[in-house]
Amino acid sequence: MRTHPRLTSDASLADFVVDVANVVRERTLGGDRGADLGRFLALLDGLVAFTGDATTQVYAVCDRSLLSDGRLTREERQTLAEWHRAGLLSVWDVADHRIIEAAEATRAQVVTYDGFVDFHRRHPWLYGNRDRFVEPYPGPGGAVSVRRRIMPEPDDWQMSRKEEESALLAAGMYDRRDGTGPRTALLLRRWRCPEPDCAAFGPAARGALPRRQGRTGRVVCPEHLRELTDLGPRPRQMQLKVRVDGTVRHRFLLTEGQDLVVGRHPRAEPGERLAPWLPERSPSLEWISRDHVLLRISGGNLLVSDVSSNGTWLRLPDGQTHRVPPGAFRSVGRRHVVLLHDTVQLEVSGKSFLYEERAEGEPPPRPRPETEGESQQPTMLAPSGPRPAGSRGKRPGRGGRRRR
Ligand SMILES: [Zn+2]
Repeated sequence: MRTHPRLTSDASLADFVVDVANVVRERTLGGDRGADLGRFLALLDGLVAFTGDATTQVYAVCDRSLLSDGRLTREERQTLAEWHRAGLLSVWDVADHRIIEAAEATRAQVVTYDGFVDFHRRHPWLYGNRDRFVEPYPGPGGAVSVRRRIMPEPDDWQMSRKEEESALLAAGMYDRRDGTGPRTALLLRRWRCPEPDCAAFGPAARGALPRRQGRTGRVVCPEHLRELTDLGPRPRQMQLKVRVDGTVRHRFLLTEGQDLVVGRHPRAEPGERLAPWLPERSPSLEWISRDHVLLRISGGNLLVSDVSSNGTWLRLPDGQTHRVPPGAFRSVGRRHVVLLHDTVQLEVSGKSFLYEERAEGEPPPRPRPETEGESQQPTMLAPSGPRPAGSRGKRPGRGGRRRR
């Protein structure tokens, strides 16, 4: 079964929702054919360049007509069909609804040229939106780049916008700040489809975004349109990113109730091995212990414990660093960074907000400020020897941030 490392069937892990047909059929992106899958593949590279994150994840959605588009080569149509069977391509008679649904549920950004003007009335967050949409454009040498786009503000709609917002707010259907609505709740539970081979909700599936039918309120499999069984809350998970020399190289999931050892080559099971992501002959290979840190989710918080020989530091949002005392657990906040070496750090992914507990009546948490597009210059933290005593709380250099 053909897969692609940038595609995910789990919308909750996606950084981007991509309108695949929209991109594949865009002639300005290069190629002579009216439809060319190469444009989408080039876009995936463009998204990695845009975010500076080599592990960028995409939830791909397309119209059914694309699967039989005669302007694609036979091999391209086969690739799309295989992605579809593997659950990596979400196929719809009309993809627009699903794209907006997925964007609402996950806060992922949307890659499209479409203005979704017909949807503004039901989804007021679309109106004039400035931070949730990007569009591809041709880059040098056949590459595809992306840039932010501002959604249109249809005139005839503007007049009634405030009334509409108020009505939706009253109905609990609208979060004024970013439009993430009750669909997120569907992502926080486990669902089972009666179809045994269902790629999205079968026994082997990890998780996906079901569809709630408007009229009946039933929760159904978007592929088979059969009612899903609710298997209860999904275990709380956090996604962590491994940033090496300023670039995200790897991401992994931490699940509540399953402590995880992270290190160069952990002996323990389950363990997260960092060696494959460290450059050859890098000092970090010597510095980072086989078992370096133990990670745990407890009460909705991420905890870290240092089990290494050389030490672990926590960098706070204000730039201060603190050593994690060996053997003790320290809480890792939303914008904290766990430093295993000055060039190797662990960060909580912005996607993890989905699993944050919300008290009754409390507003949803703010999403993490957009930092994905920035590569962070490593700090000057203990590059070749133990950190000198008395340096606790000293600010590492914060200059040298650059756009990639
Ligand atoms: Zn199904």
